[in-house]
Amino acid sequence: MSLQMLSLTSSPVPETHQQNHPKPTPQTPENNNLFYTFKSPFELKQIHAQIIKTSTSLFILPISQVASACGLTSSFPYAQKLIHLSGKPETVIWNSCMKAFAESDSPKNAIRLFCQLCEYDVCLDSFSLSFLLKACVKNLGGLDGRIIHGLIEKLGFRSNLFLENSLVHLYAVCGGFDDARQLFDKMSERDVVTWNIMITQLVKRGNVDDAFRLFNMMPERNVRSWTSMIMGFVQCRKPKEAVDLFTKMEEEKLCPNEVTVVAVLAACADIGALDLGKRIHEFSNKSGFKRNIRICNTLIDMYIKCGCIEAARSVFEEMGKQTIVSWSAMIQGLAINGNGEEALKLFYKMIKLRIKPNDVTFIGLLHAFSHMGMVNEGREYFASMSRDYGIVPRIEHYGCMVDLLSRAGLLTEAREFIKNMPIKPNGVVWGALLGGCRVYKNVEMAEEAIKHLLELDPLNDGYYVVLSNIYAEAKRWEDVARVRKLMRDNGVKKTPGSSMISVDGVVHEFVAGDETHIQCEEIKRKWEKLLEQMKAKGYVPNTSVVLLDIEESEKVRFLYGHSEKLAVVFGLINTVKGTTIRVMKNLRVCEDCHAAFKVMSEIVDREIVVRDRSRFHRFKNGVCSCKDYW
Ligand code: ZN
Ligand code: ZN
Repeated sequence: MSLQMLSLTSSPVPETHQQNHPKPTPQTPENNNLFYTFKSPFELKQIHAQIIKTSTSLFILPISQVASACGLTSSFPYAQKLIHLSGKPETVIWNSCMKAFAESDSPKNAIRLFCQLCEYDVCLDSFSLSFLLKACVKNLGGLDGRIIHGLIEKLGFRSNLFLENSLVHLYAVCGGFDDARQLFDKMSERDVVTWNIMITQLVKRGNVDDAFRLFNMMPERNVRSWTSMIMGFVQCRKPKEAVDLFTKMEEEKLCPNEVTVVAVLAACADIGALDLGKRIHEFSNKSGFKRNIRICNTLIDMYIKCGCIEAARSVFEEMGKQTIVSWSAMIQGLAINGNGEEALKLFYKMIKLRIKPNDVTFIGLLHAFSHMGMVNEGREYFASMSRDYGIVPRIEHYGCMVDLLSRAGLLTEAREFIKNMPIKPNGVVWGALLGGCRVYKNVEMAEEAIKHLLELDPLNDGYYVVLSNIYAEAKRWEDVARVRKLMRDNGVKKTPGSSMISVDGVVHEFVAGDETHIQCEEIKRKWEKLLEQMKAKGYVPNTSVVLLDIEESEKVRFLYGHSEKLAVVFGLINTVKGTTIRVMKNLRVCEDCHAAFKVMSEIVDREIVVRDRSRFHRFKNGVCSCKDYW
């Protein structure tokens, strides 16, 4: 189409046309949508012809749409001419087009358009560059950061902090982090956004130490800076650091946002910091998050992991609209807290409400069957999950099934089940069989399970301990000695056990044999007093869990130093009568501590909840919710 044609738009239509056609009515955007419906240069040209034919003003054309229809095609010059004729500022039109592309699902188009603009010498400004940077970040590159960097320098936008920040972001996301760091170090001016970009990106790369170093250097910090850092600690499994940092954030009188709340709650769940978790819960209710689904689901998870199933249930019931995540979490929570019956009730309620269960729901359900010894139902639902719900069983589901069969003493069936699994069994699967072998005293099969477990994880001291226990119970002392030698030969070092307990909002951590705690002497005295009473009730120290070549009396002394015992006794000293003691342990709770807590719960008339690496033990009136199977 020629320029002359374009200029015809304001001239009258030739006489002959008027004779054949009714006199055209003036077109306005309101009475003709046609002018807005074009998507390609071809359609636009048709409309353009119509404009000329009907003597309509060119102003009726939506110019930004012209730009997006032709910007990426060979009709670019045509669009450019239309923009010129419209008299609207060209850079503004192209920028709005770039912005739209950058924010769309195909940010690549913004980069392509940018290349066209450079080719046709369109004058670029800082906005053009900012949209380009945005598109590159979203597109994970597409254009080397260094090219844009060069352009920014060339066009004289070097001192534009917004552009420099976006460039740091681009380098950090797409390039090597060193480039981002170099630019960051060279910047003459930085604001809180610059620092936040660096911290967030370091956290995303799992480099939480460097992130924290930068965080400590920041001249000023906003909620986002604190939140990123807290999230970083949660992600790299440093929940105690996350909680400590949150306490500091509160001291600075900054108000946490939704993301902060979710991150801190996750940290509370990890270390069982129930007091802080409850406080955050109150805060989030006051801040209008009462029905925030993400926060409610995190709260449910936190309460379950702290062993407060009732609190989890009330969040679940009050949240208004539960999602499948909430249902699954509740079912799973009830099951692992030893309340299989309630878990099943909730599952049936969910089915009645026509809510479709997902894979996590089935993990909870199978846990519940396992706990209740409902073998047939377990088998039935395991088959149903793929048949009726199209869910492919994951390793966790197989683990649950082996647990279910082993708990019921169907060890041969459990072993067959493992052999027929379509995926390679992991430590959890063999571990579940081993648990059954221990309870039902099947030494041979235990040896088989251990063989596989040690192949998978030869340095896990926990397996040697269980095997030694099994031999000790069968009074096979030579084998106990053999395990000890094997452990030494394989260079297995015992992972130090550590247990945490939160009292009055402060988290106390105990490691095995800890003699550094300020109340160390008091704990020892209390323990000795308790021990007298426990022995009277039939407690005998089980020294077979100590795999060290030391004197028997030394072994007994060793047992008393177990981190979970120190934490529980500390809790008994520092909480009022009747308070539930909640302890989190990093490893599996040992047999001796398990036996000790059962007796202890009766003597002190308290509920003692111990969460170990894989499950909850709820000791009350001399029994444990796990029914001695774990
Ligand atoms: Zn122990
Ligand atoms: Zn237990």
